[in-house]
Amino acid sequence: MINSKKQLAIALSGLQVFTDADIRLEQYPTDSEVAAEVLWFAQQNGDIEDKIIADLGAGTGVLGIGCMFFEPKKVIFVEKDKKAIKILEENLFELQPKIKSKTIHSDIMDFNEKVDLIIQNPPFGVKNRKADKPFLEKAFSVADVIYSFHKPESKKFIDTISKENKFDITNYFEFDFPLKQTMKFHKKRITRIRVGCWRMERKA
Ligand code: SAH
Repeated sequence: MINSKKQLAIALSGLQVFTDADIRLEQYPTDSEVAAEVLWFAQQNGDIEDKIIADLGAGTGVLGIGCMFFEPKKVIFVEKDKKAIKILEENLFELQPKIKSKTIHSDIMDFNEKVDLIIQNPPFGVKNRKADKPFLEKAFSVADVIYSFHKPESKKFIDTISKENKFDITNYFEFDFPLKQTMKFHKKRITRIRVGCWRMERKA
């Protein structure tokens, strides 16, 4: 049982992350404290319990697995990188959650199931500009509530695209996001970047 944000962060910090990150896919895991902050809010807000949830670009699974502590109906992981999926599956095996789940090895573009909630930390488009745009478009088309991580500089873009898709931005969180040295070109052991998380909800 998880009874506090701190406990959640500790549980998530025990998960395995990418061993050999793929720069083109901008693979880096959501920091466990940051994930705990957002997921704790989401469960308090009634966005997780009994919901069907999809984690797009799930990577090693921290966001979707984090949801599993709060009694969702089902969690679907969508990830196109086989190596990430292997780690995700090991994480699930270690945890043995009682929650129903499904792991789909595909591009998010091929995912078309209707869900209640999308939670995603997609590539920010540092390497490929606007890499996060298809993630947002997919989320708008399949879900009613979305938690999505982006660079704070994307604020205008997200204001516009959410409006175009008839979603309201209900909450915004901003963090100092530690990027541990998983990629060869990062010189310092930990660099920090600012990251925002937007909660969006389909207009009634
Ligand atoms: N959501 C995870 C991983 C973030 S890194 C976490 O929060 O820890 C972004 C992930 O998106 C990577 O694992 C990458 O392989 C995946 N990805 C990038 N483009 C994708 C696409 N088009 N379809 C599916 N997965 C994709």
